Amino acid sequence: MSDAEGQVAREGLDAEQEARRRLALAQIRQYPDSALRLPAKPVEEFDDDLRRLIERMTQLMHEAHGVGLAATQVGTLQRLFVFQPEEDEDVAIVNPEIVERSEETDVDNEGCLSLQGVSVPVERTVAVTLAGKDEDGNDVHYELEGHGARVVQHELDHLDGVLIIDRTTPEARREALAILRPRIVLT
Ligand code: ZN
Repeated sequence: MSDAEGQVAREGLDAEQEARRRLALAQIRQYPDSALRLPAKPVEEFDDDLRRLIERMTQLMHEAHGVGLAATQVGTLQRLFVFQPEEDEDVAIVNPEIVERSEETDVDNEGCLSLQGVSVPVERTVAVTLAGKDEDGNDVHYELEGHGARVVQHELDHLDGVLIIDRTTPEARREALAILRPRIVLT
């Protein structure tokens, strides 16, 4: 699998799933929304509001057929994201940090639920240890490799206002911006 966040399972969606996907995407901030460029703040309260936010983000991730979603993408500038380290496994991590990373890197294509229609090559660390809190404020850590490591690096970037177009080659960036540029309609 190459897409880190979005457009993973588009083929084979029936009409209802496709309608749900579109509704979910409409609730996810789309480039060039300025929220996507703002750094998120650490979470201090582990309360019902936080748990509701995590529930909503997990649902949106599923409906959008993504494998990760950062709070920034729903316009909430708090440091948390949800992701799927494995298929059918949902994890929410609050105040996440990479505490260890391998030296080895690799390049693969990534998509993003906030950059519809774009897939660009991004270099990422192959293995990382991610530390943070769960929704109740307990310490958690995950050792991730390959796809899972790539997804969490992508989501962490969102919390710092960084997008895949900032991390790709100049040529891929130019092509992506051409896709994202609002079309001018001549009448
Ligand atoms: Zn993204």
